[in-house]
Order: sequence, then structure tokens, then C-alpha cells
Amino acid sequence: MHPIELITLDLDETLWPCMAPIQRAETALHDWLGQRAPRLAQAMALGDLRAHRRDLMAQRPAIAHDVTLVRRTSLELLLEDFGHDPALAAEAMDLFMAHRNQVDPYPDVIPVLSVLAADFKLVSVTNGNADPAKTPLRGLFRLSLTAGEVGAARPDPALFQAALDWAGLAPHQALHVGDHPLYDVQAARDHGLHALWLNRQGLPWPEELDPPTAEIADLHGLLTWLADTAGGRLAASANAGKGLPDSGGLGAGLAAGDGNASNDSVILVPGMPAPTPTGAGGQRHGR
Ligand SMILES: [Mg+2]
Repeated sequence: MHPIELITLDLDETLWPCMAPIQRAETALHDWLGQRAPRLAQAMALGDLRAHRRDLMAQRPAIAHDVTLVRRTSLELLLEDFGHDPALAAEAMDLFMAHRNQVDPYPDVIPVLSVLAADFKLVSVTNGNADPAKTPLRGLFRLSLTAGEVGAARPDPALFQAALDWAGLAPHQALHVGDHPLYDVQAARDHGLHALWLNRQGLPWPEELDPPTAEIADLHGLLTWLADTAGGRLAASANAGKGLPDSGGLGAGLAAGDGNASNDSVILVPGMPAPTPTGAGGQRHGR
């Protein structure tokens, strides 16, 4: 059995770009307000609405971790201020969320998660509010958790602990993958989970944080890392991935134990040891 049984994954900027869907959702919401709450829409542009939410989070830190609640509360207050029915906020949020969930996953995401779902418990953990079940990733996660649901946003460990509790596992049996050095990597390892830094943009690691165990450029790098730490447990699921259109020969490479097909995706941090001394050659050193 692989020492890792649970993989938690961040959503925004890890599995899909989030700025575009959020901007589309905010624009659609503002257009809708123009019809249903015209005094508010005319008085407050998108930037004004953002500023109102920022102020609200500062005034009410108890709800700041719940981005959906912040958005809805902000709308309720503003609707009331401008003489509209605050109950419109619920309908407005339904519209916002419908657009918010129209995400476009990175091309590696569905092929790799489809392979991993056979061997690992996959749980999404987000500080945001996207719902994978309403995206192209529906069916890939056994559980999807938001900071709003668990009562705290990362770097608080509540999301990780909720996933561990659900799985009945200890932190060392779990791996977290995410794009943010502090909210993903540091937060996860502080709670005892393994953590990989998914660095799609080739950004420098912040000097003030200890380096990550390993850095991956996309989720193919996750498969390589797991294969190198797994002692081959992935071979079966890697074979199952052979027929995937975008797997790029990944399954064959893993099954053969050479990692050749996907080793461009893992970048070891200079000075950090390889995950295991298997000599499989599945890592690219330095950058
Ligand atoms: Mg993220």
C-alpha cells in the first residue's frame, strides 16, 4: 500500500485559472443588478463592490473566511442601502455561482486526476467557493470542502483536518498539492501532511519560507513523484491511464518504472533530496 492514501488538492490556480471566471461572474452579476437593482448598479461599479466586500471582511473578521457569505452579505447590505429588496441577494448569488463554476481546467488536470482517482482518495480543499461537481471535474473528487464549510481558510489547518477526519487517516498518510507557497505548501506541512508546490508559472519560491520538498510544473509531475515514492503502487492505475487521450504515454512510462514520459513535470528544488533513492530518473534537477 502506498504510504499516501489521501491527496488533497487546491482548486483555484492549481486546477484551473480563476481570475477569468470570477471576472465573468462579477460582470454578469453587475449586469443583472442593472436590471433588478438599478440604483445600486448605477451607483457602484465593480471596483466599488469589491471595496465594499474588503471593508466588510475587515469589519467582520468572523465571516471573512467564507467568500460566499461575504459576497451575499455585502449585496444584502447594499441592496438595502439603495432601497432594493435585500432578498434579491440570494438570486444574485445563484447567478454569480453559476458563472463562477464555469472554469476551464488546465489540460493535465482531467487526465491525471482520472488516473489517480482509482488509487487515492481525492479531496478538494479550497479557500474559494467553486464547486467541482458543477465543473468539468465532476465525479473526480470523493469529497469537496470549502473554507466556508469548515469554518476557517488556509493556512488554518481546518480544511486539511476535515479531509483527514473524513478519510480516517493521519496527516503523514496525506499529500497536499497547491499553487500557493504559504496557503498550500507551508500550511499543509505545518499540519504534518506531505506537500508539493505546483508552480505552473515558473515563479521563484519566497525566500522567507523553507523550500518545498519538490516542485511540479503540472499534475504529470505529481504522478512521477508518487511513482517514485510509491514503490510502484501506481503501476496498475498508470496502465489504466494508457487509453487517455492526453496522458502522453504517461501510463507506459510509469508502468516501466522509468518515469521518462513525464519527468519534465517534476523539478526538484536545488539542494533538496529526491523523494526516494529509487534511481528511477523521474526528476529534473535545478532550474
Ligand atoms: Mg490556489
